[in-house]
Amino acid sequence: MSAPEEDYRDALATAFGHARGWLESQDQRRVGPSRTAADLAEDFGGPLSRTGVPASDVVDHLAAKAEPGLMAMPSGRFFGWVIGGTLPAALAADWLVSAWDQNAGMRFATPATAAIEEAAGRWLLDLLGLPPEADVGFTTGATMANFTGLAAARWRLMADAGWDLDAEGLTGGPRIHTFVGRERHDTIDLGLRYLGLGRPTAVPVDRQGRIDPMDLHRALGAVARHEGSGGSGRVPLLVCLQAGNLHSGAFDPFLEAVAVARDHGAWVHVDGAFGLWAAAVPELGALTAGVEGADSWGTDAHKTLNVSYDCGIVMVRDTVALRAAMGVHASYLVHATDGPADPFETVPELSRRARGVPVWAALRSLGRDGVAGQVRGLVSHARQLADRLAALEGVEVLNDVSYTQVSLAFGDDSTTRAVTARIIADGRVWMSGSRWRDRDVLRISVSNWSTDDDDTTVAVDAVRDALAAVRSS
Ligand SMILES: *Cc1c(COP(=O)(O)O)cnc(C)c1O
Repeated sequence: MSAPEEDYRDALATAFGHARGWLESQDQRRVGPSRTAADLAEDFGGPLSRTGVPASDVVDHLAAKAEPGLMAMPSGRFFGWVIGGTLPAALAADWLVSAWDQNAGMRFATPATAAIEEAAGRWLLDLLGLPPEADVGFTTGATMANFTGLAAARWRLMADAGWDLDAEGLTGGPRIHTFVGRERHDTIDLGLRYLGLGRPTAVPVDRQGRIDPMDLHRALGAVARHEGSGGSGRVPLLVCLQAGNLHSGAFDPFLEAVAVARDHGAWVHVDGAFGLWAAAVPELGALTAGVEGADSWGTDAHKTLNVSYDCGIVMVRDTVALRAAMGVHASYLVHATDGPADPFETVPELSRRARGVPVWAALRSLGRDGVAGQVRGLVSHARQLADRLAALEGVEVLNDVSYTQVSLAFGDDSTTRAVTARIIADGRVWMSGSRWRDRDVLRISVSNWSTDDDDTTVAVDAVRDALAAVRSS
């Protein structure tokens, strides 16, 4: 065996042992980390030594020192933010992606990863009920998936307004007016900022956080009337809808809202970071009805699908706009002129890992029924938690639990904050605090494929004990 081969063997065998140890400890360990980043600074810091260390020693050091600072996000008792675990097939595929070390930008250069990602893309469009002709790109997450969809929108809206964005840039061009629901995810504003589109108009929402189609109609009409008079081209309008509200899990009413946006000639983008997956479950079909009428969609694979970080997905119907917005046309890139896009034409990066491969593996391991079953399980555990917690005295469930999110309050804000802090300190489960509709809330997200009835029972116990402790203090 050559020296490099031995080094790989030793380092990977060491990593494999530590990875198994970590995963097999999930059931017993407290969920939260026991040390802070500042505590750990010394373990990893200090001046960089002049000489190196064998690879397997590096791996040993990393695993041993990191352990107390790790959050047990793969645990079925982790309910914070919206964060999935990792399916075994996806994790193993992710390791292969690292070992293969393909720069997955060009079909010609890395045909295997291109073919795998294309297959995953077709499966996704089919599962989510989206147009089969759409282009699919694998981004780092939903922030970048949404950014990419919005960039395609910007290119198309400018072209339709007679403005050559690529040549002229934004300066002096027509203004694109953007509209979001008041409870959109903040990263939509971030994407609009990256694109130089400014702050969006926030349209009123109902008590679950769903955009009001009549208000959307009024907001679009007001701009069209104001700008449309005298101008020649169409007023460029961009509407961003949401599948899955962070606090309530609610879905915008797509049938009505998409129709309203279409009446005004707007491009419609959907942020479906965790919610778009409802479309894969027949009995949840009402939540996403009409979503296929949009122009572009962003979602995460690292949330509801349970693929390891980092992986998001953008899907765009107008493939010309997407490829124009994201493509690079340097002479040294060898790429096809017809047929499927080269991967680099559908995402912001040129060089990247083949992050669509774990998506393929997750879908292949689950199958169509398995994907539906996984999402169904998350929703039913969220409902179970909401029902059991609502039955406790002093607990208010603030949202209609139609999907994976539950927002709770325990009377006044200070009690809610104190209960949240107790739960985190207790460590049996992990849930985060937030603010929704002018109240402090404890937010539960059921996003991990491995969460089972035992985990929800522990969660109910932990909340009950924390509330009792706060009351008696
Ligand atoms: C998580 C989330 C995002 C951002 O996704 P990242 O994967 O963190 O980049 C956007 N929108 C919604 C609704 C989300 O839940």
